[in-house]
Amino acid sequence: MRRLVAKISQEIKIKKDEAELIIAALLDKPRFELYLNHQLSPGQRKLIWLKLLQLKSGVPIEYITKKIQFRDYNLTINPGVFIPRLETEYFIELIAKKISNKPKKILEIGTGCGAIAIALAHLYPDAEIIATDISNEALDNAQINIKRFNLEKRIELVYSNLFENINTHFDLIVSNPPYVPSSRLINLPKSVRDFEPLRAINGGPDGNRFIRALINQGLLYLNENGVIALEIDETAVKPLNLLLKDKLTRVLFLKDQFGKYRYLFIGDEKR
Ligand code: SAM
Ligand code: GLN
Repeated sequence: MRRLVAKISQEIKIKKDEAELIIAALLDKPRFELYLNHQLSPGQRKLIWLKLLQLKSGVPIEYITKKIQFRDYNLTINPGVFIPRLETEYFIELIAKKISNKPKKILEIGTGCGAIAIALAHLYPDAEIIATDISNEALDNAQINIKRFNLEKRIELVYSNLFENINTHFDLIVSNPPYVPSSRLINLPKSVRDFEPLRAINGGPDGNRFIRALINQGLLYLNENGVIALEIDETAVKPLNLLLKDKLTRVLFLKDQFGKYRYLFIGDEKR
């Protein structure tokens, strides 16, 4: 093992402890066990080299280890499913802080691997949640994570294009929809462009194709004092303010941990 770690760190130019972390993740073992009587089979060796070459070619490490830590939750992430971001971890923080009534019925649109729905199920132990996606790969991935946390009875997964298959009302509608303007997709890091699903990111010509629909239709699906909480792009603040000007509802734009406007809360009288 020592020799393998040294060779890997040299060949793909990563530190020794990084190589250890990756090998441990690939073998699904704690790192300290690597040096305890561990003889790798030729198959395991081959797999490790193959995965590391993928890493070298730019595949996000989360797709290689199939693991992502989202707040307190160790989640499975499958290639082809959007990798949750740090900004979305902070989104949960703001939902906890800014929403005055504990929501009992929650809808998450575009759940991806299920990160937001799972965090909200823990934040609001009495809530029932419907989590949707238009990607079957995402729904399959979310199913794995929901099962891991024994939340099958509280989070219902529904295949739906926006509100198409939704027919009840909610206290909280939450979404991190695709919101990057199409013209900016080319500027995304190569690892995102080449390996993550663009359908999860592409928000159309001005980035707001889904956000507008989520607001216009979402308001019709809210209970009294309900809230819509969205992750947005900072360039959306102005156009969304215009869109919301005529709607009789409270509007709050908030910044992320990097100082950029990133979230929009709509509704809720007591803010
Ligand atoms: N909620 C996850 C997160 O925050 O990590 C995933 C967010 S990802 C930016 C957007 C998700 O919305 C993707 O899983 C994508 O498949 C889904 N999506 C895209 N268009 C959709 C639509 N019309 N209806 C429902 N979901 C959609
Ligand atoms: N911020 C994401 C990125 O860096 C995009 C997220 C989204 O469109 N919801 O790719």
